[in-house]
Amino acid sequence: MPMPERSLQRYRDKRDPARTPEPFGAGQAAPAGASVGMFVVQQHAARRMHWDLRLEIDGVLVSWAVPRGPSLDPKERRLAVQTEDHPLEYADFEGIIPAGNYGAGAMIVWDRGSFHTVSGGPVAEALAQGNLDLELCGHKLQGRWALVRTKGEGGKQWLLLRKGAALLSGPDIILAQPASILSGLTV
Ligand code: MN
Repeated sequence: MPMPERSLQRYRDKRDPARTPEPFGAGQAAPAGASVGMFVVQQHAARRMHWDLRLEIDGVLVSWAVPRGPSLDPKERRLAVQTEDHPLEYADFEGIIPAGNYGAGAMIVWDRGSFHTVSGGPVAEALAQGNLDLELCGHKLQGRWALVRTKGEGGKQWLLLRKGAALLSGPDIILAQPASILSGLTV
């Protein structure tokens, strides 16, 4: 399957650097074809609350909006809608996107860390195949997670689920650990 080249054009088209504090730049990337990278989850109080999951793949942050956020319960499948690729520096961003701009509202870095593919194969290839099997090593999210593309919606609709043994009905991590891992702020 041909792999689309990653580009920030859609990201930049949606934003005006004079009007939003969000980054636009070009950071240092893991090499193309890598099986490892960083991930970030940003809680975003836009028109509708959601959690943006972003994975470093081929020099950008490939991104999904997860309306209900991640769940530690392997039986929970959370809708994840793929959005435009974001620049790597976005992983540090928290603040207020001013009213009138795309995605206006408060954003915090809810979790961040590194990931690798469980297979050891290139993450870009797994992305193209619509089946990401990942080990996350974050402050809040750890262990195995999967992102699986579903049919329809122009390939933008995915499911996020935790893999592995069920935990003893633990607390909802979204509610139990709401604060930014950078600043301690909540939205
Ligand atoms: Mn968002």
